[in-house]
Amino acid sequence: STQPTAAAAIPNDKLLGGLLSPDFDEESCLSRYQAMLYRKASTHVLSSYLILKIRKYEALHKKCAPNTPLFQKSVEQLKTNHSTDQLECNYVVWIPREGIGNRMLTLAATFLYALLTNRVMLIHQSEDMVDLLCEPFPGTTWYLPSNFPIQGLEGHNKHSQNSYGYLVEKNLINTDHKAPPSSLPSSLYVHLGHDIREDHLHARFFCNDDQEVISKINWILLRADVYTVPGLFIIPKYDEELARMFPLKETVFHHLGRYLLHPSNTVWGMIMRYHKSYLAKAKERIGIQVRIFSWAPISVENVYEQVMRCTQQELILPGVNLNQSQISPSTSTESITKTVLLVSLYGEVYERLYNLYFVHPTTTGEMISVYQPTHEERQQTEKQFHNYKAMAEIWLLSFSDVFLTSAGSTFGYVSYSLAGVKPWFLQSSKDRNIPNPPCRRGATIDPCYHGPPNFNCKTGSTGDTGNIVRHVRPCDDFSYAPAVK
Ligand code: GDP
Repeated sequence: STQPTAAAAIPNDKLLGGLLSPDFDEESCLSRYQAMLYRKASTHVLSSYLILKIRKYEALHKKCAPNTPLFQKSVEQLKTNHSTDQLECNYVVWIPREGIGNRMLTLAATFLYALLTNRVMLIHQSEDMVDLLCEPFPGTTWYLPSNFPIQGLEGHNKHSQNSYGYLVEKNLINTDHKAPPSSLPSSLYVHLGHDIREDHLHARFFCNDDQEVISKINWILLRADVYTVPGLFIIPKYDEELARMFPLKETVFHHLGRYLLHPSNTVWGMIMRYHKSYLAKAKERIGIQVRIFSWAPISVENVYEQVMRCTQQELILPGVNLNQSQISPSTSTESITKTVLLVSLYGEVYERLYNLYFVHPTTTGEMISVYQPTHEERQQTEKQFHNYKAMAEIWLLSFSDVFLTSAGSTFGYVSYSLAGVKPWFLQSSKDRNIPNPPCRRGATIDPCYHGPPNFNCKTGSTGDTGNIVRHVRPCDDFSYAPAVK
């Protein structure tokens, strides 16, 4: 069948079919133009309209970036405490929250919001993110200057008194969609945490009339920990633009992530050294990510068993001949075919898998090599080098051909979505036992929205958004019931 004319299949060229700008010094960020060499070409349609939108955005960003007169003008407006429609540059400030996976998802979602609302996205760089990512927009910067008048950005939460939810609750904001900008504050904090699912006040962000109001406010500060893109698809105001940008709805992170997120040269060095040393020669790369959440505890023995059951059942890895420890003489050296990249905070699953294929021959004669780059033991998001390792492992994983990732983990979401490959999810354990089936195939390559608003804008009451818009369906790898973190 023929593709729609507004969209084209993406060649695996340096610029990803025009998604990337050619206007960068290649040396300053090697990953930007090199990551494609390590992945298969994307098979997911990219619309020329999205490319156009991004080029326009880049021009706007350059015009409004920190250190420009227009930025200064918007900062002066911020100090007046009320909004105006007289500014050329309006902003959305991204504030980090949670681990690297969560942050990559919210960066992409915030960028989509910026594209939809003609805002410029600036990021608040916490110390733990220094030199993690490259600048994504040519000839400018996306970092919010440290002397920005609003300080303590990371202290924002659900209860902040400048949050939309709080202002609505206390009747401190004019929520009439015809409200003049001068009746609105110059800045607003938008809280899009997983914790707003049952909180109708914050969830009103996803309602059309509230968006009319919010769009008039010059500065938006946004702190999220979940992938809110499906929520943007509920808002009628953005329907048309979204449909033009993404003829295939489920490719948002795949394309925006490939455009926006590039590991710094420091992190890319780690990625390349590891890849070339251990993974490059494999004919097939299997990425396995094992994450054990406190809300779904399970022993390491059981997770290992779960990985084995899944890989055997789904023919991801060959079985072994337990009665034999010798390789059959007919096996030629050419049969080194599969590499497993195992990524986890813990070393035990790796040890077991490695030993299995070390001690016994496979039933197929294939050689299976198993590697694990790090085992950090626990999450230490406040540490820069720990984050480099997490970032490096997400990217190494994204070069895989087959994905087996722990259900509910944004770390895994980023890797398979960048690759554009539907994963197998290791199901979460409900009772410490091995789930049956041990794994299920994911339905989409787009990440899932943990905790979309359970709110019906029309009736103003509870109403499963999954029933309102088809794209916002419940996650198939994650149930909303547990406290997320
Ligand atoms: P999620 O919590 O699984 O959704 O993923 P996040 O990436 O948001 O947060 C988990 C954080 O824990 C990561 O960013 C890392 O800091 C750490 N972490 C978890 N699993 C791994 C792993 O396999 N490798 C490394 N290096 N870090 C991990």
